[in-house]
Amino acid sequence: MAKLFIPGPIDVSPETYAAMSRTMIGHRGAEFEELYASTQPCLKALMGTQRPVFLSTSSAWGVMEAALRNLCAKKVLNLCCGAFSDKWFGVAESNGLQADKVQVEWGEAIDPEAVRAKLEEGGFDLVTLVHNETSTGVMNDIEGIAKVVKSFPGVLLVVDTVSSLSAVPIAMDDLGIDVLLAGIQKALALPPGLAVFACSQAAIDRAAEMPNRGYYFDFLEFEKNAQKNNTPSTPSISLIFGLQYILGEIEKEGLEARFARHLANNKLIHDWGARHGFENFAAEGSRSVSLTCFKTPEDFDQAAFIKTLKSKHGFAINGGYGKIKGKTFRISNMGNETEATMNELITAMDDVLATMA
Ligand SMILES: *Cc1c(COP(=O)(O)O)cnc(C)c1O
Repeated sequence: MAKLFIPGPIDVSPETYAAMSRTMIGHRGAEFEELYASTQPCLKALMGTQRPVFLSTSSAWGVMEAALRNLCAKKVLNLCCGAFSDKWFGVAESNGLQADKVQVEWGEAIDPEAVRAKLEEGGFDLVTLVHNETSTGVMNDIEGIAKVVKSFPGVLLVVDTVSSLSAVPIAMDDLGIDVLLAGIQKALALPPGLAVFACSQAAIDRAAEMPNRGYYFDFLEFEKNAQKNNTPSTPSISLIFGLQYILGEIEKEGLEARFARHLANNKLIHDWGARHGFENFAAEGSRSVSLTCFKTPEDFDQAAFIKTLKSKHGFAINGGYGKIKGKTFRISNMGNETEATMNELITAMDDVLATMA
């Protein structure tokens, strides 16, 4: 088994696994309510919201699809710039929704002015944005895009922060974001199986008018249960034990220190790439700080590089995702990585490159 430097799921610490192995508790009782309540202050700080943060026993896609079903009565505008954001458009169509998109080349970021131009066509009531497009290493201009969307009354904004929540500051309330969501297996460094999300009052009000929201992903059910520090159905309690532990670690480190650590660790990988002539796939000025996506040079045996890195050094990096599989490779610096652990990876990658030369 290799230590994961792929951009999700990422490496989980032994302390996190230990926290998750606590004795099970019932979810309709004071113990669970305390557990749930304990997650709220740090999650709210990470998201930049005063709203309750809901815990969904699903991967991120559960909430991404739910946002469409709870909030889109007219037409959704999907902002597409990579595998995850492109797929959101496909998911809207598969739910039978009216959907349109702003599509940019993979590696580019969404231009807020293109969003404005599309919304001016009219008829939209929802916009989906992937903040950090994990497939391409692009971090979108969440502020610029939110500002544009907010200038169109009645249009709600859903933002996926799966690979950015806790790596960079997010200001949900200040930006007027209506749903902010993340799975926990990427930037939060937990095993997969839980998603966290918050809804604005406007999102809850919209959901209240939507027919056929179903039960499992009904935002009103989450809202109602959150008032009692609970979830609609039996949650993945072990993962919430792990979440409580990780949030405690985040509070101990401090948010600013955590953001600075991600930035510094990301720079180590950028510098490593520059030393070896690997070009960044993401456009300059729009690069993620939680992962790096490099272009695979023509004459570079990427498969051998990744394979040897794993077999000889026990480190896993990723060979590209979706239609850029093989044409790019990605390295994560999310979660608990330190300067020391990033340098261990870098030393190992240098060793493999030396043997390949
Ligand atoms: C991984 C990822 C998802 C999908 O998460 P699942 O856990 O597979 O549902 C969505 N958005 C982004 C940006 C991701 O990185």
